[in-house]
Amino acid sequence: MTIDLKNLTIEKAHKHLIGGDFTARELAEAYLKNIEEKNKDINAYLEVFSDVLLQADKADLRFKNGEKDNALLGIPMALKDNLLVEGRRVTCASKIMEGYVAPYSATAIQKLIEKGVVFLGRVNMDEFAMGASTENSAFGVTKNPHDVTRVSGGSSGGSAAVVAANLALCALGSDTGGSIRQPSAFCGVVGYKPSYGAVSRHGLVAMSSSLDQIGPITNSVEDSKIIFDCIAGVDSYDATTISINESALIKKKIGIVKGLLDIEGIDSEVKKNFEESIEKAKGLGFEIVELEMPHISHALEVYYIICPAEVSSNMSRFDGMRFGKKVGGSNLLEEYLETRGQLLGSEVKRRIMIGTYVLSSGYYDAFYGKANKARELIKKDFENAFETVGAVMTPTTPSPAFKIGEKSNDPLQMYLADVFTVTANIAGVPAISIPSGVSKDGMPFGLQLMGAYKNDAALFDIAKEFER
Ligand code: GLN
Repeated sequence: MTIDLKNLTIEKAHKHLIGGDFTARELAEAYLKNIEEKNKDINAYLEVFSDVLLQADKADLRFKNGEKDNALLGIPMALKDNLLVEGRRVTCASKIMEGYVAPYSATAIQKLIEKGVVFLGRVNMDEFAMGASTENSAFGVTKNPHDVTRVSGGSSGGSAAVVAANLALCALGSDTGGSIRQPSAFCGVVGYKPSYGAVSRHGLVAMSSSLDQIGPITNSVEDSKIIFDCIAGVDSYDATTISINESALIKKKIGIVKGLLDIEGIDSEVKKNFEESIEKAKGLGFEIVELEMPHISHALEVYYIICPAEVSSNMSRFDGMRFGKKVGGSNLLEEYLETRGQLLGSEVKRRIMIGTYVLSSGYYDAFYGKANKARELIKKDFENAFETVGAVMTPTTPSPAFKIGEKSNDPLQMYLADVFTVTANIAGVPAISIPSGVSKDGMPFGLQLMGAYKNDAALFDIAKEFER
């Protein structure tokens, strides 16, 4: 049979694979052909692995041996280029990582390998996951498959674009302040950020350790859940991992945040689309509750203190001595300065400088200390909200995908793209973006649903209702 990649999900592919309609090899070949034809239009893959068909053959052997209940066996997946796979290159879309080969696999990757997932290749991102457009990649921007004059979002722009363009059936991304959800919204696919600690960060190149999570980007909510269920779990290599709750009875109440859409710079079409989502929620039988969450209007400021602070610390290991490339100098200090000066991009440098500043003596209490106090208040806002509602709903982004170059010279404008997504990372709660329609120009909108900490399963159930 010819494989209809356009309407394929993991669920459907699995049925075809066990039904013998096509093999894992044929499925992989269909994606490789699409990649060959279309990747040049969007610039999403940094590397297509040379052993894709070999991986697929191994999966086919397992099918032959009667393996039936494993929904991920033989499923083609793309990987954000900040996830370690033993023996493969990882660049974080940075020149400084040139020549680096991962010595071990991330825990999440190891679990997927055991399931027999077929890894297609490494996909583009903003350098070290800092950005909201993939324009900060050292290897060029990934274009939006719906309109190649626009960005795919970021930092997991490559992951979202390949799923939207049918160059992979699913992908993994990482989300520190929105990097899974924002590009998913821009590209019209589903993106899931788990509760903090639900998925091990072992083997994910760290950006901001108290905010980072690995998560799936897929064509359906169920597909995201299938991947999440595989990669979640307590891991002795990551002391912050937790076990999550079983799905509880859904509270048929959804919260919207009072005054949230009154902030400046929200696109009028986004507002209208959100109104439609509210009506949809009502139609599904949800009661809409207007919530007072007085501190979340400060989430962006809090994020842009805590995140750079942790970035400045995490990035110190890239000094030219231990990983990737080094630029020589006449003494050690000069080598550090030349390596980091020449091989890191301007957004990474900006964050290191901001982070170093907010952590420096004399400023620590005023910035970092204060941001951490505000973080606790934001968490409390969510705890209070989830006493009443099953989910809090917002648009995923303040606008649909913007034009390439439109914000790249204005970091503050770029940071505003995260205004709705950073809150979930600060509070550690799970959040999903699902497609919610298109603009007059045909660009996708995303609806964000945030759930209570550890209630990932319940959040999936709510999101599925919206998908119907
Ligand atoms: N766009 C946000 C930032 O630049 C989020 C990045 C992320 O989630 N990795 O920090």
